[in-house]
Amino acid sequence: MAGSFDVVVIGGGPGGYVAALRAAQLGARTAIVEKDRMGGTCLVRGCIPTKALLQSSELYTLAKTGEPFGLLADNVRFDWPAAQKRKTAVVDQLVKGVEGLLKAGGVTSLKGAARLAGRGAIDVDGETLQAKDIVIATGSAIARIPLPGAELTIDSDQILELREVPRHLAVIGGGVVGMEFAAMFAALGSKVTVLEMLPQVLAMVDADLVNVYAKHLAGLGGEIHTSSKVDKVVKHDGGLQVQFSAGGEGGAVDADQVLLAVGRVPYTHGLDAEKAGVKLDRYRIVVDERLHTDADGIWAIGDVIGGIMLAHVASYEGVCAVENIAGHSRRTPDYHAAPNCIYTDPEIAHVGLGEKEAKEQGIAVKVGRFPFAASGRALTLGQTEGFVKVLADPESGKLLGAHIIGPRATDLIAEATLAIQNGLTLEQIDLTIHAHPTLPESLMEAALAAQGRAIHSANRRSANSPSGGSAVPSGGSAATSPLRGQDMHHNQEKQMAAPVKPSPPTPPSPSTINAKALALTKENRDFLLALHRQMQLIRRFEERAQEQYTKAKIGGYCHLNIGEEATVVGGVLALKTNDYIFTSYREHGHAIARGIDPKAVMAELFGKETGTSHGRGGSMHMFDAKLRFMGGYGIVGGHLPLAVGGGWAVRYQKQKDVVFCMFGDGATNIGAFHESLNMSKVFDLPVVWFCINNRYGMGTPVEAASAVAEIYKKACAYDMESIQVDGMNLREVMLRTSEMVEKTRNDSQPRFVEALCYRFKGHSVVDPDKYRSNEDKEKWRKADPIVAFEHELEKSGLADEELFKTVRQEVDAQVRDVIQFADESPDPKTDDLYKYVYAGQWENRPELRAEKV
Ligand code: FAD
Repeated sequence: MAGSFDVVVIGGGPGGYVAALRAAQLGARTAIVEKDRMGGTCLVRGCIPTKALLQSSELYTLAKTGEPFGLLADNVRFDWPAAQKRKTAVVDQLVKGVEGLLKAGGVTSLKGAARLAGRGAIDVDGETLQAKDIVIATGSAIARIPLPGAELTIDSDQILELREVPRHLAVIGGGVVGMEFAAMFAALGSKVTVLEMLPQVLAMVDADLVNVYAKHLAGLGGEIHTSSKVDKVVKHDGGLQVQFSAGGEGGAVDADQVLLAVGRVPYTHGLDAEKAGVKLDRYRIVVDERLHTDADGIWAIGDVIGGIMLAHVASYEGVCAVENIAGHSRRTPDYHAAPNCIYTDPEIAHVGLGEKEAKEQGIAVKVGRFPFAASGRALTLGQTEGFVKVLADPESGKLLGAHIIGPRATDLIAEATLAIQNGLTLEQIDLTIHAHPTLPESLMEAALAAQGRAIHSANRRSANSPSGGSAVPSGGSAATSPLRGQDMHHNQEKQMAAPVKPSPPTPPSPSTINAKALALTKENRDFLLALHRQMQLIRRFEERAQEQYTKAKIGGYCHLNIGEEATVVGGVLALKTNDYIFTSYREHGHAIARGIDPKAVMAELFGKETGTSHGRGGSMHMFDAKLRFMGGYGIVGGHLPLAVGGGWAVRYQKQKDVVFCMFGDGATNIGAFHESLNMSKVFDLPVVWFCINNRYGMGTPVEAASAVAEIYKKACAYDMESIQVDGMNLREVMLRTSEMVEKTRNDSQPRFVEALCYRFKGHSVVDPDKYRSNEDKEKWRKADPIVAFEHELEKSGLADEELFKTVRQEVDAQVRDVIQFADESPDPKTDDLYKYVYAGQWENRPELRAEKV
């Protein structure tokens, strides 16, 4: 048997045999030594035999419950020996399969117990092998505890060989192995009692999933005792009794079999690992990030190194280790997307971050859920217990965790695993076409729910609800939804044709804006929260508009006002509905604050027929006569003289309305600024000049462009009342602007407000953010107006982070809808291009001829 190899693998489990096959693929002369049967715990005593038996118990359950499906079977019985026989056949076939693979792969298989016998030497039952590198893959063994009466119990190996199904099975230990057997034997008719020391069985699983499992088990007559410490197992009444204590009280469970399933420990027995220089930490072999041990040329993988003790993780580590040996690639195992599958009924599977873990670690997540009760496929299977839950990063939408309990959860987890491993987002999942009717649709729906736009379940809109989808009306299932195929299309067509309406979440303004109306009190809560939402909406809108610009969905120029939300919302909402707003061409947020439907704003940016200016204004001009919104008429400051014209119109018509003219600091460097201010004063026009000094001035900060850096002081030159406000403070902007607006309404005198704020980004993606020093940026970022307002709301007990999270989710979902609407909206028809345009052809616009004007 003696021989010399490049790589010798010790242990033929899923870690070892996969490592051996990969090493051979990489050209190494490879041998594998196994003292028992090829396939290890997984094939012989673990994954495979348990799942073979579970399949039998599942079929039994189906047969017994087949009547509603039209399956009538009398006297259904379970033949345990037959199930055992099949299980053995499955195991044998797979073991043979692995042996065959090794042979075909050119791996030398050796039978015997291996021991490390000096540098590069392995002793196998007295014979010596030489190896350049050794991979230890000796797995794990059943953990034993010093429990009085332990000798009366059976372990996970013995339970597979039982002669009959126990009438009453007690399971000590609520881990994966214990719960899988509990589920199996409960389905086969055993009365199952679980005793677990911790407060929850399946401690690594989120509690909401465990609850579903526990309820199912209870339905089969099973019982789970948590926080219960087993004291001893004794013989009792011809059977066994497990005595335990819980909450200071004693308890006892009678059973004819007691499964002791308290975990597994890394196995190095007889290996002489430490003699060979391999460091152990208790039983576990210590490895570095490349899976190398402390001893030269000795590597270790799988259960024997502890960590995640699962077959697929062992295989993955096997591949990593031998690729490191071969120098083929430097592999550091990455476990962040290692799935965990639990074959209970219903099945449980999870991958990535858990909800409890997120909470403990203070990681902000958005959560989406989809119940199988709403899945058409689950309904056809008759298996509607459980749900899919996804956790994602609230900012990027990256999927961080997926948790499934329900039919075929262990298969469904694969898609989420792929997504997490590759950093995919909720949107990438929901934009992937999922076949219908299938169970994987449920993952897509949960991803949608996390974004507040589940299709086949109700989206939670309540401000207090932290997560996406909720339980579903049965009629809304994928199988029965009326909104599929043609109908869905028609629905969208109708939507497109619908007239543009003001957006519903516009905050209802109190009749008078004063300090009382803006106080942080319970009475004002709805209004204040609506303001907060409005700021969030504007910010998200702008962020997403930029993305669309970079995708060339938006032509021309697309301005950003990120950081100016308090100035914009505070300024615009200080007005009455009859006041006129004249703004420059960076007015998306201004339009939204004024109540123009964000869909119409985005559609305008996209140049679509459904836009505010029917797609004729491009990215520059927003106009809404009904809302008296006179958006962008030209480049920097070009609209100031127009506001003067507006002021004249109001005066001539003897109205009490105010013209509100919003412009940036750049506009104050041009002549039209001075002319306009001058004229408004000379002619007593009711104009409030509102300067959004965001400190960018199109690349030239005002202090570099003007001797008078405080813009509001320029207005003094025209004998005009003028003030400067903190533009990062929403309530201050609103209150003080409102005071100025109302004074102007009363005396028809122009006034000037300078709102000091800060633009966090350049004017657009083509305008690099390089005008300000990093210290300056840092300082202003700390004053983020949305965060500042959130602090105020939080401190006064009107809202909390949970609520802000929900708002962010909802706003995010709303903006996605907005983009979808704009994207799917029709282009203006070529023949109609001059419709609505002042430069239209005279012949086509009889309504504009002089006699009718
Ligand atoms: P093992 O599979 O334990 O293989 C180690 C091998 O090394 C053994 O064959 C042993 O005989 C051999 N060996 C040990 N010492 C020597 C030596 N000195 N010389 C030669 N050979 C030696 N995991 C899952 O992912 N999914 C499941 O569904 C699942 N179900 C399970 C159910 C049960 C009941 C149990 C017990 C485990 C289950 N597991 C499951 C865990 C899974 O079986 C292990 O994680 C996996 O087998 C570990 O693989 P391994 O290669 O590290 O070690």
